[in-house]
Formats: sequence, structure tokens, C-alpha cells
Amino acid sequence: MTTVPLLDLKAQYAQIRAAVMPVIEEVCESQYFILGKHVTAFEADAARYCGAQHGIGVSSGTDALLLALMALDIGPGDEVITSPFTFFATGGTIARAGARPLYCDIDPVSFNLSPAAVEAFIDAHTRVRGGVLVNRVTGGRIRAIMPVHLYGQSADMDPLLRLARAHGLAIIEDAAQAIGTEYHGRRVGSIGDVGCFSFFPSKNLGAFGDAGLCTANDPELAERLKVLRVHGGKPKYYHALIGGNFRIDELQAAVLEVKLKFLDGWTEGRQRNARFYDAAFAAVPGLGAHLRTPRALPGMRHIFNQYVVRVARRDELRQFLAENGVGTEIYYPVPLHLQECFGYLGYRVGDLPHSELAARETLALPVYAELTEAQLRYVVDTIARFYAG
Ligand SMILES: *Cc1c(COP(=O)(O)O)cnc(C)c1O
Repeated sequence: MTTVPLLDLKAQYAQIRAAVMPVIEEVCESQYFILGKHVTAFEADAARYCGAQHGIGVSSGTDALLLALMALDIGPGDEVITSPFTFFATGGTIARAGARPLYCDIDPVSFNLSPAAVEAFIDAHTRVRGGVLVNRVTGGRIRAIMPVHLYGQSADMDPLLRLARAHGLAIIEDAAQAIGTEYHGRRVGSIGDVGCFSFFPSKNLGAFGDAGLCTANDPELAERLKVLRVHGGKPKYYHALIGGNFRIDELQAAVLEVKLKFLDGWTEGRQRNARFYDAAFAAVPGLGAHLRTPRALPGMRHIFNQYVVRVARRDELRQFLAENGVGTEIYYPVPLHLQECFGYLGYRVGDLPHSELAARETLALPVYAELTEAQLRYVVDTIARFYAG
């Protein structure tokens, strides 16, 4: 039987082994594991890649988000507008910072935070008090918008930036799935105040473990991120700020420095596979009634961290694909506004219908660069067989 795993990191490792092993060995020989020359070099390379002035390597994508919130001094009494259709860390870090997540619905085509929904929320539920945007129900200060560039496609940033400027809000980009993604010629992570990237192994640029990055253009904000990354100590052991240990490992930075050079090639492979799927699904008669392929919107460079289709009878299809050796995943089955831990926010089923429908209908298919055409063909044929039978 043909098998097509959702992701095969061993195939990628085979390509980079010769380049990456000597660097790992060099770091081991040096026994210099914390904030060394590889961190400095990777931060500079990654910031340049993202079109941002500054890069601050951190311990994970989750910590990048938490650090961004801390650097913007967002905490108790504050609220942050974000998407509920995302990985848990987006809302989780807002709550961990002590602030309140405000979930607004997504655009059903892009799956990203809808600027119209954000604007409607602001119009209906806020007022301005002493120059600050205040939630009329909770009395909390709304401080930031945290759009997510889901699956590798940019959120619609221009209208979000306009809203942010009009209301004095910061923008924290959750770019965990979106390194190299572009919005009308601009790389994500360089558009808002802080960009947050993840190098979790399944992301387009994956470390050998956990790692992440914050990007910023403002030098003062970059400096705050840097200082908060090391417990807020500057100079060491003198603390004007309370930070944490959010450092990226030297070993991970060394690996990422090597892997970054391969990233464009891998991204092109994902884009090529996405185009193959688009054409192959379109060529199956009648399939359009059951399956909708993802839309890369005009002006976007979609990097396809995930290729996500909307399908009828999703869970049955997923089961059928698993029985036939095809790995898939649901990103994400429960939108954050309906997670048990966010029950205190008071959302009900039906409040954010586009997010709830997406959670029921979406399925991620294998799209990694090393897939063969035979494997892609097999995925398409197996799906066609499911709906034919
Ligand atoms: C992966 C991911 C994160 C978290 O990154 P980690 O490195 O796993 O902590 C945050 N947000 C989104 C949208 C992600 O996909």
C-alpha cells in the first residue's frame, strides 16, 4: 500500500545532514550553549529574511507571543483582540499575560481574523474613555490586535493596521506558521509592532526541538524584548523589569542558521504541491460539491505550512484516508472561544459561526516538499474514491 504521512522530517534531514552535523559538533566542541555567535548570526539572518530591523531569538513560538505581550506591557485590566481559529498558544498567551482574549470571527475564505468582524466589535462594544479604547461590558482597556497568519497565508493587514492606528492599538503578528509569507510585497513579521515566529519541527523552518523568534522594527521595543528574554536584567543582575528565561538555545540557532538557507527551496516545493492538488482536485468530475481547495488571495505569498481543504463528511473522510495510509490532521477541532478553559469569557456556541464551521469542515493534507507526484496523485485518487463510493 502507498503511504503518505502528513509530514516526513526524515526525508528533509537526509538533505541537510551533511551541512548541519558539523555545526552541531562545533557547538558541542565549544561547549558554548547560551547566546553565542550562532544566536547573533541567526537573529541577523532571520530578521533580514523577514524584512524586519531586529530579530530576537527565543525559546518557542509560544514564548515569542508571551514576550511580545510583556514587552508591550499588556497585562491585567487589558484586552487583546484575536482569532479563535488558531493554535491554542495565541489565546493562551494573552490569558497567561493576565489579559483578556477578545475573540472576533474569521473570514471564511482565508480562515484569518476578519477586519470587518473586528471593526463591528469595536463599533458595537467599545467606547473611548480618556483617550483609551474601553470594552463597554468589562471595562477593560483594549490594547492590541493579534492577527494569525494561519496555514501560511497573511491576514488582511491593511484594514487591521488602519483600525489599530485609529484606536491606538498595537499589532502583534502571530506568524508562527508564516515565515516568508508576504502581504502585498511585505514579509509578515515586519508589518505590525512585533512578529512572532515558531521553529517547532513541523513549521516550514523547523529546529531540532523548540525555538522561536520575535521580530520588531522599533529599536526601543527590540531592546525591551531582548532584556525581558533574560529576566529583565540589564546590566546582568540589575532588574528594572521583570522578565523570564525566554532564550533560544545556541544549538538550535546553529541548526536554524543552516536550515534557513534551504527554506526557499522547501517553500517552493510546498507551493508546487499545492498547485498540483489545486489542479488535480479541479479535474475530478463532481468533486467540487464535496471539497473546496484553499484560496491564495491576490497579493499574498502563501507558504503553505498547511494545505487545508473544506470537505463534507470530514471525520469519515479522515478515517477513510487513515485506513488507506494517508495522514491528515484537523487544525483545529475546537475554536478557542469554546475551549473549556475559556468558559469564564462567556462565549456560547453560535457566537462566532465562521470559526465554528471551519472547525467542523477543515482537513489538512500532506503538502511537505519531499512528497512525490505519485504520493500526491494517491491522495487525490483516494479522496475521489471516497466521494465516488
Ligand atoms: C505553532 C504555533 C504557535 C506556537 O509555537 P510553539 O513553537 O509550538 O510554541 C503559536 N501560534 C500558532 C498559530 C502556531 O501554529
